[in-house]
Amino acid sequence: MKPLIGITGNDTSLERNYEEFQKDYTPHGFPYAVNKADGLAMIIPIQEHDCVEDYINSIDGLLVTGGQDVTPILYGEEPHPKLTGNYMKRDEWEIKLIKAAMAAGKPILAICRGFQLINVVLGGTLYQDDSLRQKRFVQHTQQSRMVKGHHHVKIKENSILYPMFGDKLFVNSYHHQSIKQISKELLPIAWSDDDLIEAYQDQQGTILGLQWHPEVMLFDNDEMLPCFTWLIEQAKKQKGSEF
Ligand code: MN
Repeated sequence: MKPLIGITGNDTSLERNYEEFQKDYTPHGFPYAVNKADGLAMIIPIQEHDCVEDYINSIDGLLVTGGQDVTPILYGEEPHPKLTGNYMKRDEWEIKLIKAAMAAGKPILAICRGFQLINVVLGGTLYQDDSLRQKRFVQHTQQSRMVKGHHHVKIKENSILYPMFGDKLFVNSYHHQSIKQISKELLPIAWSDDDLIEAYQDQQGTILGLQWHPEVMLFDNDEMLPCFTWLIEQAKKQKGSEF
């Protein structure tokens, strides 16, 4: 069987719908990308009851998706006026999933909010709005369609990304927050020209985090497919080691 990738879901409760009309969902790009990289996609909804271990035991890899701002209280800051919608229930649920996946040695691909959240889980901090960062001369919230790249990133040699893309990559950019202090457990592996960390990995090479949205660029062409193929290949290794 193909590796099963758990995709962290969102819900519509911040849209102030009546409860009976609330929906669990994920943007189509995520299951589309997993399918295109030859994996099976399963959306993990935000759940009330304790079933984290069972979800993690049933998947071969975890995809931590984009969405709301991470709640700043989680990294020791009060909410800044420029914070946009944060959602503590989702934060708490995903933190449990991330910790359980790490403990089980399952590979994790984290994108945008997911990239920021794992940094927080491992002790790092964020800028609640990128305008609060000193050195800032690249636009990170693109006004054009996200299927196309917007700014370049420099990629570190000897990183997960280097064999895929070489030393430079044109990425899309749709984030108003950014990493302030990177966790000591994570290695930055890509930067924009204004020195913002755009990608990291862990020492063991089982976590890859990306600030951009490769799943959206996949609607235009296959250049970003290796990001997802990496997750599927790692998941296959993990699956193989169980037998
Ligand atoms: Mn960017």
